Amino acid sequence: MRVLVIEDTLELARQLTQRLEGEGYAVDTAADGEEGRFLGETEPYDAVILDLGLPKVDGLTVLRSWRRTGMTAPVLILTARGAWNEKVQGIDAGADDYLAKPFSMEELLARVRALIRRAKGHATAEIACGGVVLDTRTGRVTVNGEPIELTAFEYRVLSYLMHRKGQVVSRTELIEHVYAQDFDRDSNTIEVFVGRLRRKLGADIIKTVRGLGYRADEP
Ligand code: CA
Repeated sequence: MRVLVIEDTLELARQLTQRLEGEGYAVDTAADGEEGRFLGETEPYDAVILDLGLPKVDGLTVLRSWRRTGMTAPVLILTARGAWNEKVQGIDAGADDYLAKPFSMEELLARVRALIRRAKGHATAEIACGGVVLDTRTGRVTVNGEPIELTAFEYRVLSYLMHRKGQVVSRTELIEHVYAQDFDRDSNTIEVFVGRLRRKLGADIIKTVRGLGYRADEP
């Protein structure tokens, strides 16, 4: 999953990035509304964390412009404490959730997980496919109840495919959702990771759809 953080308080942006990366997300950041708007228009994010008070272009303007052009990624806005009007305006402008500053990092992570899960059509925090169960809260993966050790990157690939369970994911799409923008992207690497995942899971849940990509599905 790939997340965009638009926040001009650099220390907070750094903490957010660190925690999100620790939870297995690929993270891009922008420190002003202009750059953030551009990234949101041009890159496919699974969720966006958008501060409302931003230099150059404010967060509400960014959000309105995205929604006008049909950008549908779930957006969580960060508002000033007690500013109920900011929350109302934000939700009316197309925000999916909000948090007032200062917020707890755990609450933010839980909300981001829920936003992504719902946007991909899952009602619960555990996603099951065949004997494989991915717990989005803990990042734990089990096969027939047995825990499996995955590297951070293997988890990213599996998590994306399982969130999109039953649907074909092209290699390009997979790359766009597991790497941050400044990462050197290589589609051969994806194949290697899928191969490793198949061996570790020992279950035939990641199918290759010839010429199209991959699909996580019941064996
Ligand atoms: Ca700010």
